Amino acid sequence: MAPATWAGDRETVKHAAGIRRVDLSHVQVASSETARRINRDIVLELIRTSQPISRADLARRSGLQRSTVSQIVEQLIGEKWVREGAMASAPRGRRPTMLGLNEDLIAVAVDIHPRQATVAVVDLNGRVLLRAQTPLSSDAAGSTRVMVQSMRRLLDALPGKSTEGIGISLPGRVDPATHRLIFAPNLRWPDFNLKKMIEKKMGLPVQLENAATAALLAELTFGRMDGVRDAVLVTVSEGVGTSIFANGQMVSGHHGVAGEFGHVPIDPAGPHCACGQKGCWETFASSRAALRYYRDLAPESKTISFHELLNLAEEGDRAAARALAQQATWIGRGLRILIAGLSPSTILIAGEITPAWHRYTPIIEKEVADLTLAGVPPAVRPVREGDIARLRGAAALVFQRGAPREARSTEIRRLRPGGSGKNG
Ligand SMILES: [Zn+2]
Repeated sequence: MAPATWAGDRETVKHAAGIRRVDLSHVQVASSETARRINRDIVLELIRTSQPISRADLARRSGLQRSTVSQIVEQLIGEKWVREGAMASAPRGRRPTMLGLNEDLIAVAVDIHPRQATVAVVDLNGRVLLRAQTPLSSDAAGSTRVMVQSMRRLLDALPGKSTEGIGISLPGRVDPATHRLIFAPNLRWPDFNLKKMIEKKMGLPVQLENAATAALLAELTFGRMDGVRDAVLVTVSEGVGTSIFANGQMVSGHHGVAGEFGHVPIDPAGPHCACGQKGCWETFASSRAALRYYRDLAPESKTISFHELLNLAEEGDRAAARALAQQATWIGRGLRILIAGLSPSTILIAGEITPAWHRYTPIIEKEVADLTLAGVPPAVRPVREGDIARLRGAAALVFQRGAPREARSTEIRRLRPGGSGKNG
């Protein structure tokens, strides 16, 4: 994935003035198109965070000229990202028309786990309109057919919406060039072109991304990350995934596989990991690890899901509470690698542990404080509705800022039979 570049990067510019290295193999001179795109993104972000807002207020708050704002707004309305709403009341003179994001622009979001997928329809404000669960098996083609049926059912239930595309977050890595899964130890699908198959069946463009990266993108797209320039997002479910936001940029790394901290061994004598190594962080900190701790503490217990383990702890089951505490300790210990290596100001936690965050926070915070090398320890907080962060991230992939709109709309026209821009 191309790194998201945030407009208004004043701090970096200030610090880097005179020392910024220009890599001639990567740069392009700024065209008027570059400036237009940055200004468009600023206007769109102002509309998102301040809707409903008038053109006059957009000009005042962005510092752009009224005519420039009007031009950008017309473009955004044409692209169906923004729409005009009610007229505001004004004490005198012409009443301004207020602008907001077009809630009829939707994305199909899919969050894939090893055994099941959640399929949903999410609007441009990040609201989940409909969602459904589908079981997955080791048969990749069969599982894909089931997911496609679910997507069709949901879209049929929401007539009159414009579908921008399909985003899929998955527990693995996708080769940015071939779009094939290149590292997905918890998803036992052989080399399978998921993107191509779904595009063919749905006639919509498909974006695939690692679940942690998608969840971080959801925070950047739908959340409030203003002022945060160094963050790490950790998603804890069947595995542990991380995504890095450093110096205001998402870090993808060579081959797009940066952030596999879940597969850094922290105890060579630890359990076997699906990746082939032993004692990876995720073998101690994932929800699977918590279930293992519970089985060790309560060997007589029946097989339960992680959700049931959370419920048992809430009902006062001491073995369940201890198993979760053990998991929290290992989450905290593993965070040392991230803190030492990246020095984030904020660590965001997503995944199925977030509904029980009150159990985790004191233990994780203590571990993090004990292990911080210097300065103030980073803030550790769950993302809003962290259990659906990956799902929302899948939608954020579709609504990604910074991607050239023209290129993407061409792609949509090319892919969609009829090219009407409407469902059905
Ligand atoms: Zn591993």
